[in-house]
Parts: sequence; structure tokens; C-alpha cells
Amino acid sequence: MNLGLEGRTAIVCAASKGLGKACAHALAAEGVEVYINARTETTLRAAAQEISGSTGAKVYQVVGDVTSEATRRALLEACPHPDIVVNNAGGPPPGDFRDWGRDDWIRAVDANMLTPIELIRATIDGMRERGFGRIVNVTSSAVKAPIPELGLSNGARSGLTGFVAGLARQMARHNVTINNLLPGPFATDRLRDTVAAAADREGIGPDEMHARRLAGHPARRYGDPEEFGRLCAYVCSIHAGYITGQNILIDGGAYPGTF
Ligand code: NAP
Repeated sequence: MNLGLEGRTAIVCAASKGLGKACAHALAAEGVEVYINARTETTLRAAAQEISGSTGAKVYQVVGDVTSEATRRALLEACPHPDIVVNNAGGPPPGDFRDWGRDDWIRAVDANMLTPIELIRATIDGMRERGFGRIVNVTSSAVKAPIPELGLSNGARSGLTGFVAGLARQMARHNVTINNLLPGPFATDRLRDTVAAAADREGIGPDEMHARRLAGHPARRYGDPEEFGRLCAYVCSIHAGYITGQNILIDGGAYPGTF
């Protein structure tokens, strides 16, 4: 299927590794010029080289913490009129809510709610005027089925989800869509770190923890980031203009409900 994205431009945040990189890769493979961001220059450069090497697309890098205004400004200076914005950032740490003070909550809300809203605010009117726009927020299956030790993530991402639900309806008539992609467990560094931390807490090795988790998963495997990237590219495509305000779960059947 030709996704009709040739020549479009995209900002993809937090994209040197994992799900963000997979989104940038899938968009670049469709002929999109991508502007990728992450805090660590070396891994960002390596990701840019990998993506441009395998797709032939133009890939630009903006180093910095996307939760800082300066980095967002640099992204928008590099790509002032993006057709596509993929909002992503690191997830908050796991823990017990009794240990989280105001600063922990502010950090989580900043990364997983306010930063995407700021980038939406800066780009959506231009998309509306040009009659095309695709905004994708990487959130989490935890929005639909909360994960107890990820309370910061459950809370902050739900705030973004509520905001987007209203805005998406205001933008639908302009061919500007906003959707959230909700990953279940995907084989990325983040997942390896959270599984290792959980294994430590239980006093077992990481391999045993992976085995336990997969034994309870309907697909008996983690998602491949490439699967996530391709879904993102489809949601950004010209064929997906009638999909907006949705929370699209991609979790191999882990969520147990009918709806
Ligand atoms: P990952 O493999 O650890 O990659 C995270 C990427 O984000 C890296 O490129 C990292 O590079 C960058 N990054 C992190 N914080 C950043 C910041 N403040 N500013 C700019 N770049 C930043 O993580 P992932 O698994 O792809 O996760 C992506 C998002 O999906 C996270 O919010 C995570 O919580 C969520 N999620 C993941 C899963 C899963 O199973 N993988 C499931 C549910 C939700 P630098 O460190 O160099 O900045």
C-alpha cells in the first residue's frame, strides 16, 4: 500500500532508540523527511545514519531534552511546518505512590502530558491552514489498563488522553488528526530496564522474569518495534484521515477485555 506520504515532513521526538526510532524509520521508508530528537548525541547520530542508510530519506537531528523549551524551539526552527508530529519521551520511573512528591509528579506530567501539548499547540494551526496534519502521541497500554507500579505514567498519560479527545474533534474537519498509540510490551531498552528492575525486586534473574511475563502473554512474545513503527506510519497516511481521537492499542492481545 502506498501511504501517500512522499515529500512530507515529520518531527519525531525521543527517536534514537526503541519505539520513537521505529516510527521515524517507518516514516522515512515512505519518503518522509524526518527530524529526530533525543538527548544523547552519539546514539541520535547513529540512529540518523541507520535510518537514512536504509531508506535513502533525509534525516535531520536535533539533540536535547524534549521537555525543555529550548529543545522544542530548536526542533521547530529546524522544521517550522511539520506535516506530522510524533510525540514521545521517556516514561516515568516505576515505584510506590507514597514515595512520589510534587516534583516527581511535575516531571511526569511535563514529559508525558505538557510537552506533547506544547508541540501540538505550536504546530496544529499550520497543519489546519495547509489542510493536512497527523499528530501521533506515543502513550501506553497503561492508559487503558493501569499498571500499579507505573502510577506516574498512568496519571500523566491519562491527562494527555483526555485533552486530545476534545481537541481531535475540533480539528477533524481540517484533515488534521490526533491519535494516541498505546503500546503493550515491546522489546526495547525501556522494557529490558523495567523487567530487570522487577526481577531485582523479586530476587530472581532477568531471564526468569522475561519467561514469567511471556508465559502470561497471549502472543508469548514481546512486540517488535518495527510493528509499532508501521502502525504509526499508517495512522499518519493519507488513508487514515477518518481515524481521529482514537486510542489504538497494540499489545498482542494482552488487554483482556472485549472492547
Ligand atoms: P527506549 O527504548 O528507552 O527509548 C527511549 C528514547 O527516548 C531514546 O531514544 C531516548 O534517548 C529518548 N528520550 C528519553 N527521554 C527523552 C527526553 N526527555 N527528550 C528527548 N529524548 C528522550 O524506550 P521505548 O520503549 O521506545 O519507550 C518509548 C515510550 O513508550 C516511553 O514513554 C515508554 O514509557 C512508552 N512505553 C513503552 C513500552 C515498551 O514496552 N517498550 C510500553 C508502554 C509504553 P536519550 O536517552 O538519549 O534521550
